[in-house]
Amino acid sequence: MELILRRKDWNLMRAHVQVNAPLEACGLLAGKNDLVEKVFLIENHAKSRVRFRMDPKGQLKAFKWIELHKLDLIGIFHSHPAGPETVSMTDIEEAAYSVVHVIWSRTPRDWVAHGFWIKNRQVEEVALMVTDGEQP
Ligand SMILES: [Zn+2]
Repeated sequence: MELILRRKDWNLMRAHVQVNAPLEACGLLAGKNDLVEKVFLIENHAKSRVRFRMDPKGQLKAFKWIELHKLDLIGIFHSHPAGPETVSMTDIEEAAYSVVHVIWSRTPRDWVAHGFWIKNRQVEEVALMVTDGEQP
């Protein structure tokens, strides 16, 4: 299982988590099958260092756009500015959608991202592929 992202979308997410640190940042990923076509940067309504709650208005706007463009919600991303590099217990308990959860965490050198599939409290790693081409 994998999730494919274009470099520009990858950079967009990375910049978003960076600018919001030390608070958690979040957003949605829309696309078809395993290819991300659009990244939505959503405000973290919780304004917290350890949890996120997507701004309901921003989320609704994204859902409408996704429906209008006949895409699917295929991922959710958020950051762990102070770690861990994996999903937290809260993430597992609050996983509301069957989509790939992308977690950005800050290491001493840079941000790293990992993908996870969470279902029935089971966590499986999903490979994240970044492509430079417009059409992978
Ligand atoms: Zn988390």
